[in-house]
Amino acid sequence: MNILFDYVLFHFRQVYHLPADLEISYGLDGHSRIQITPTTSTFFERQQAQPVQVFWKEWRGTNLPLFFDEATDQHWFNQNAQGQVIVQYDVIASAFYLLSGWQEYYGKDRDQYGRFPFKASLQARHRFITKPLINYYFDVLKESLETAYGQKIEAKLWDGKPFATCLTHDIDYCQTAWKVAGKPAMQKGNIGLFLKLYLQHRKGQDAWFNLPQVEHELQALNAKGTFFFLPEKAPYQGHPNADYDISTPIIQGEIKRLASRGHEIALHGSHGSGGKTQQLQKEQDNIHAEVKGNRFHYLRFDPIKSLEVMEETGLQYDSSLGFPERFGFRNSYCHPFRLFNFKERRMSSVWELPLNLMDITLNHSNYLQLKPEEVMPAITPMLQEIEKFHGVFTLLWHNENFTPYALPQGLELFREITQYVQERGTQFLTAQEAISAKFSIDKS
Ligand SMILES: [Zn+2]
Repeated sequence: MNILFDYVLFHFRQVYHLPADLEISYGLDGHSRIQITPTTSTFFERQQAQPVQVFWKEWRGTNLPLFFDEATDQHWFNQNAQGQVIVQYDVIASAFYLLSGWQEYYGKDRDQYGRFPFKASLQARHRFITKPLINYYFDVLKESLETAYGQKIEAKLWDGKPFATCLTHDIDYCQTAWKVAGKPAMQKGNIGLFLKLYLQHRKGQDAWFNLPQVEHELQALNAKGTFFFLPEKAPYQGHPNADYDISTPIIQGEIKRLASRGHEIALHGSHGSGGKTQQLQKEQDNIHAEVKGNRFHYLRFDPIKSLEVMEETGLQYDSSLGFPERFGFRNSYCHPFRLFNFKERRMSSVWELPLNLMDITLNHSNYLQLKPEEVMPAITPMLQEIEKFHGVFTLLWHNENFTPYALPQGLELFREITQYVQERGTQFLTAQEAISAKFSIDKS
């Protein structure tokens, strides 16, 4: 069971300033200052996708599910006569289960893109997609430590700021506004709009070739962004990849300009590349810039294959893990974390910057279909959780959604969301900065 404990404790140590002489034991060893009662369940010795039981217990006004404990009415923790604190519930097992992505690795459900579907998740079944449960379990541990050590434990901040925000942009389309938005406009009789978009395109200024506009918006926030470029143009099994060719001087020029201004350039792995090391490697090389991270196009993270592929290509981080169907916390955690390698039963060197909100989730016909005015009220509770636990908010806003020819009121929504986090005192960081700012990138 030690690998579970080591994995969870590694992450606990990342988020708090802990006493140097931390004594914490997973098991009742009779002498450590903190002792956590381990589950008697044999769940982790089998390959079952989901635990059968759940027991809800209240913590500071929030009901938390525990997946490996019997229902009792004991306190979360007690202090004995020797001053040792005994945590009565196995928060380690529940945290490991969620953070490692166990249900996705051992679960068989996949959608048409090979993704683990939201509807198959425990987050859907028990309705906790917008609660970062692991941060709540850590809060229990933190208070048990405060009791045992008789001192306040402080959370680590972001350069003094309460939480971080990563503004990220997947660059799928920058040549086809005239076709994708223009042709339907013409069919509806708006020939003027079609002609405008078509003529812009002919002059080499398609409405979606708008990276300077994205940059301008970032500049207004005094923020640097992370741009995920898609180096594959050929469609894959009928699904579109990029509408541009990464090797052309015009795109290379954009990449160089963005990089020279301090923005981060990253890889947008194409359809199918999540299972193919050579393909992903080739795509990484074809960007011709320093690339540390990846996000798969359509968020096609293959729970069985993708981690190995990223380890083999030497990528430092991924940022694909959000459910396209819902905003929130896919791994129930609001900080970067290291992925778990199930095949070799070890913590991977690859980090995950969890994706909290993708623009398309908000109003795609298969997803939420929110009206623009419904967006802020819907996402604010999630943002409050991130702020409360001093985590990272990762937003994906495609470049075409800065124009009037894609998501309705896309630009206005981007401004509303980013102004909200700015007013809450966020620290804007690139994805790479968010991972390295607080977390040493050590290889295991
Ligand atoms: Zn994409």
